[in-house]
Amino acid sequence: MSKIKLYSEHLRSNLDILAKKAGGKEKLIAVLKDNAYGHGLDIFARKTADLGITHAIARDAKEALEIAAFFADIIVLSEHEENFFAHSNIIFAVNEFDALKSVSRGVKIALKIDSGMHRNGLNSKELDAAFGVIKQNGVILHSVFTHYRAADETGSCFFWQRENWRAVKERVIELTKKYNITKPFFHSCNSAALLRCGEFDEDFARVGIAMYGYCDLPEIFGHFDLKPVLELFAKRVSTRELKKGERVGYGGVFEADKDMVSSSYDVGYSDGILRYNGLGELKTTNGSLILGRVSMDSMSINSDEEEISVFNDARVWAKHFNTISYDILVKLNAKIPRSFC
Ligand SMILES: *Cc1c(COP(=O)(O)O)cnc(C)c1O
Repeated sequence: MSKIKLYSEHLRSNLDILAKKAGGKEKLIAVLKDNAYGHGLDIFARKTADLGITHAIARDAKEALEIAAFFADIIVLSEHEENFFAHSNIIFAVNEFDALKSVSRGVKIALKIDSGMHRNGLNSKELDAAFGVIKQNGVILHSVFTHYRAADETGSCFFWQRENWRAVKERVIELTKKYNITKPFFHSCNSAALLRCGEFDEDFARVGIAMYGYCDLPEIFGHFDLKPVLELFAKRVSTRELKKGERVGYGGVFEADKDMVSSSYDVGYSDGILRYNGLGELKTTNGSLILGRVSMDSMSINSDEEEISVFNDARVWAKHFNTISYDILVKLNAKIPRSFC
């Protein structure tokens, strides 16, 4: 059976690098949304909590409830406001002013501000009114946060947005005085923003991809010794000898240019790997060639090993498919068994 191995030591080392940059593990919010970027929500939450992480991010209330026991706080990023509820350690992100108006008394919120990405968040001009609503309705303001649109790119955009955010924070502090509200926590950095920033001076950083072992920051920002946590393995189903000129799989896209061995393995695109169409060259971790098109439940590989590592570095697949490591990882089917070692 196919399986996913997760390396504890790699995770520990990645978290140490990030904690050092942030000024302590208690400043890290582990981004566990979307089945922990495909790594497995429950197993990954337990492990990060064991390793001293106290805050997490989930995509929706369902994910948050699954991991609520492991963390002091969990921020839910994109639940609809009609599903918000008061809970001792679940905090709902509020992504627009209208949503804020319908939040009930006692619900904990993280107010998202649009500082230039123009995806989610309140406009900074709405801040005063928002604080009025929070005060009047007895909503509990945990934090105010924003998200950068270009933290992993060179150019001035990141600096422009950081200046916008700085002004928002000043305004928020004025408003907490005006409305007599406890000063909320501030957080703006994802992995790339944390790693590239000089001195980190906020309450939390929200780290996803770097915790899982990846960072695609351009060289100019330095080298960070992050280690991919996940490795995907497939098991051999059957083996055959190919004669020169024989073709493998749908469409016969691969043609053997010499006599060679071919085995089918039990991972296919139903398992969440992207569908390789057999063109170009895609290899497994040990350099064995994938032969022809990937099928729904299997793929053929120039190997006869009982078990083969499909990848231990998602960048190999990301590069082939002209996408990002997030996209390769997050799609991995939740039913593949995962274990830490
Ligand atoms: C997904 C997400 C993150 C994590 O980003 P990484 O690049 O994986 O570190 C942080 N903040 C928000 C709002 C997100 O949606």
